[in-house]
Amino acid sequence: MAGIYIHVPFCKQACNYCNFHFSTNLALQNDFTVALLKEIELRKTYLNQETVETIYFGGGTPSLLSVSAIRDILNSIYRNFSISPDPEISLESNPDDMDPVRLTAWKDAGINRLSIGVQSFYEADLIWMNRAHDVRQAEMAVEQASSAGFSNLSLDLIYGLPELTNEKWYENLRKAISLNPAHISCYALTVEPKTALFNMIQMKKTTDVQPEKQADQFLIAIQELEAVGFEHYEISSFAKLGKRSRHNSAYWQSKKYLGLGPAAHSFNGTGRQWNIANNVLYIKALMEGQLKMESENLLPRDLLNEYIMTSLRTKEGLDLQKVSDQFGNEKKLSLEKSAKQYIQSKKIERKKEKLILTNSGKLFADGIAASLFFD
Ligand code: SF4
Repeated sequence: MAGIYIHVPFCKQACNYCNFHFSTNLALQNDFTVALLKEIELRKTYLNQETVETIYFGGGTPSLLSVSAIRDILNSIYRNFSISPDPEISLESNPDDMDPVRLTAWKDAGINRLSIGVQSFYEADLIWMNRAHDVRQAEMAVEQASSAGFSNLSLDLIYGLPELTNEKWYENLRKAISLNPAHISCYALTVEPKTALFNMIQMKKTTDVQPEKQADQFLIAIQELEAVGFEHYEISSFAKLGKRSRHNSAYWQSKKYLGLGPAAHSFNGTGRQWNIANNVLYIKALMEGQLKMESENLLPRDLLNEYIMTSLRTKEGLDLQKVSDQFGNEKKLSLEKSAKQYIQSKKIERKKEKLILTNSGKLFADGIAASLFFD
């Protein structure tokens, strides 16, 4: 069981907080598609014939791609890989790219899940973030997607903005719930170096994010969404029954995946590869029949640390029996010892052989995981 990720490295404009790889030079889109089709051919053996369960168009802004490009990419993936009879095929889409004609065309092309970048239902927040859409477009996008027959919709929301009060955050959640999506992802705003937001804060043009407020809003999201039947199955992810993201869940279960496109990462169970994060060089190399990428082999210690990091983010938690089976009983005993302090401070709950973060522990997920890492 494996997944395929396609990184579409184009955006209409740069959101002020974003540090993903993308370019606002849209002129290269056709060349990118040609290069990507070549990469698919070059890497058709990477997954070693494993059945592909999920395909995910991420970015960047995949909804900018022409429908024919999406169709060509999917056709090529179907030709070159073994695809399960019931794959999850997701497309990240921004509200300003969505209309009934495109939605129907995406559906006909095989897309069966949309992850919509709503972020906020407040105009001022969208302007502050430099998003390309407005509130009306966001609402219409969700409604039109439902009307076009997409039953598996996910909405992205961002909390912890300097101007986002708890009351506004409650309203954002309620508005999202009222649109009846199958899945909601809530991300804390983070300030990454080299972003416009980072510079705005440095120049005191806006206030910095406040960790206490972010913590409050994280707990509000859990409370509000669980109250209406969403399962909090990963730190940022909430799903209605049976509607977890199969693609992201596969990452958290350390399954293999092939990442196509500039800056995309791949994992084959023992090593990792990452493509060059430069659209021009990515395209040029593939036109010459080569792929510009780097790779590393992962030591058992790296695999264990990744397992600690990802499993603690999930509802199922870290399975000590699995650690013992895969990495040795010594590692299990050592983990039990280091986790004791968090069990005592009620940040981790032990349920049989599982270590599971409590809601207060989830606020420190990365720090707790890092402190459990092996050297
Ligand atoms: S649309 Fe998404 S990828 Fe593009 S700049 Fe905004 S947040 Fe980043």
